[in-house]
Amino acid sequence: MLDCSAVIADVWVFLDHECDPASRARLQQHLDDCGPCLTQFGIEEQVKSLLGRKCGGEQAPTGLRSRLSERIRATVCEQVDGAAPGEEIQVDGGRVQI
Ligand SMILES: [Zn+2]
Repeated sequence: MLDCSAVIADVWVFLDHECDPASRARLQQHLDDCGPCLTQFGIEEQVKSLLGRKCGGEQAPTGLRSRLSERIRATVCEQVDGAAPGEEIQVDGGRVQI
């Protein structure tokens, strides 16, 4: 079972990069196995929309992108001890700046 905060970090990576099949598979699996966590964070619909668009070769719309990044930044800061906006955190795919 994937750690929920790692999944949030994956969404973050996905937001900033092109469709990444490995991250997409992890996210999709997490949506299937652990939908409630994304619902709880209030980002399930946005994540689903992001997955569809990114992997369909589209850019995420600016509004969606900024709402999602605000939400994820707040969530990651809550979940990752000591993380603050602008800091780098360690995720599965490497380090990301939140
Ligand atoms: Zn979860």
